[in-house]
Amino acid sequence: MKKRILAYGRLNDEQLAQLGQDVEVQTFPGLASADDPAFRAALPHAHGLIGAGLAITPELLDAAPRLEAIATISVGYDNYPVEALTRRGILLCNTPDVLTETTADTGFLLIMAAARRALELADLVKRGDWNAGIGPEHFGSDVHGKTLGLIGFGRIGAAVARRGALGFGMRVLYSNASPKPELERELGAERREMDRLLAESDFVCVTVPLTPETEHLIGEREFALMKPSAIFVNIARGKVVNEAALIEALEMGRIRAAGLDVFEQEPLSPESPLPHMTNVVALPHIGSATHETRTAMAQRAVDNLILALKGERPIDLVNDVALRGG
Ligand code: NAP
Repeated sequence: MKKRILAYGRLNDEQLAQLGQDVEVQTFPGLASADDPAFRAALPHAHGLIGAGLAITPELLDAAPRLEAIATISVGYDNYPVEALTRRGILLCNTPDVLTETTADTGFLLIMAAARRALELADLVKRGDWNAGIGPEHFGSDVHGKTLGLIGFGRIGAAVARRGALGFGMRVLYSNASPKPELERELGAERREMDRLLAESDFVCVTVPLTPETEHLIGEREFALMKPSAIFVNIARGKVVNEAALIEALEMGRIRAAGLDVFEQEPLSPESPLPHMTNVVALPHIGSATHETRTAMAQRAVDNLILALKGERPIDLVNDVALRGG
């Protein structure tokens, strides 16, 4: 008998057909919550899950005793209980690499838009308020030739740095758990303690994963260390930053502007002052959201899940689980 999987992520017809060759697929398009009654009813029979954005809890795992593998359509896996999965022998697969360049593009979009005040000034045109030549009160700041500080220098951090160093002649600083000598050679990047990086950078871009160590890594103290002209960009996860401290730093002029793709609470509450601030560019978590990249991510997740359920090593395995074989 075929194994059964629950698909709550966006998969195209070819991907569903590919899965269908090996497993029985039950789809849950637009599933918003794991409490959905049909999803709960299907969990006890599920060998695999594929999707993104659903909070997977140990309690949910209790309801899925046959579960062997989860393929998340994302590189970040902060909303998965990795230890609990590992204890139960459930494989967790993510989708690194295929979204790196697109997410780095989003990072650079935010750097450029915040520096050149693109949204604020486009709005002025839209309102019909472009009455005369733009004066110093609307000038932005240069990106080229400035200092770009990356907090987190993995796949996405390096891809943002490459754009900065090779495309915009920027000096690159990084703060990362381990040193990256190859990237230092490739990009002339220099490693710094985070405090020094914050003090020296014109642009600070966060690309660390959300973990217990990185939660609220950037707060009041860190914003105080930045230059008053600094532009802060977050394309990692909202909870890496203390958002109240960020709002205060922007309001008090401790930093100049921010470009944000991620927030502590998503979707962003309508009460949040952030999207109403003229020096903030706020995007609705679109880091990897292009047709090409989302298709590639879904494909990678499909390939991972099929391999995992066959007892073979998936391309991307997050946790150290012994493979079942056969
Ligand atoms: P990655 O290659 O694993 O890079 C993460 C880097 O962070 C690694 O170099 C790691 O150091 C470093 N790091 C981890 N913990 C640290 C700590 N406590 N202090 C300093 N450095 C630390 O991951 P990636 O593919 O670049 O993705 C990074 C994150 O971006 C993901 O986890 C995800 O949350 C986020 N993301 C967001 C979007 C979006 O839509 N906005 C899209 C994709 C990804 P080592 O090299 O020493 O391990």
